[in-house]
Amino acid sequence: MNKKIDIDQLLNRIKSLEDRIDKLDPISKRKLPSKKKQIDDIKINLDEWSKKFPTLDVEFELLKMLDWLKANQKRKKDYKAFFRNWLRKSSNTIEKDVKHVYKYIYGCQDSDDCKHQESEYKDMIIFCKKCDSQKKIIKSVRA
Ligand SMILES: [Zn+2]
Repeated sequence: MNKKIDIDQLLNRIKSLEDRIDKLDPISKRKLPSKKKQIDDIKINLDEWSKKFPTLDVEFELLKMLDWLKANQKRKKDYKAFFRNWLRKSSNTIEKDVKHVYKYIYGCQDSDDCKHQESEYKDMIIFCKKCDSQKKIIKSVRA
């Protein structure tokens, strides 16, 4: 008798059993505690989060995240992971704001024919000869 085939068959059987269990009761749900427990865990460890994201007010960010989840009626499996991503995004936004990555589009308010002009600065004085007036910021976009 061929032992290798037996082991392969056995492994296949185990794998298909595991797949069936996972369908009935997904691993992600089995392993993670309730939302409340997860959020409490984050609250208890706010100091640790604050060390990882020193530019952020992590307590405030947590409240913002919970508000956002409530407002959007979202449930997450892994709130820690979601919070981590949330903080990453927030700290990226702060860095980008500092680096002036917004572009401002200047245009003429009374005329659609005039060319728009872009600038990274929001206090430019751009004069339009045709309209005999100063162009104003009509929108800002991410650069
Ligand atoms: Zn103009």
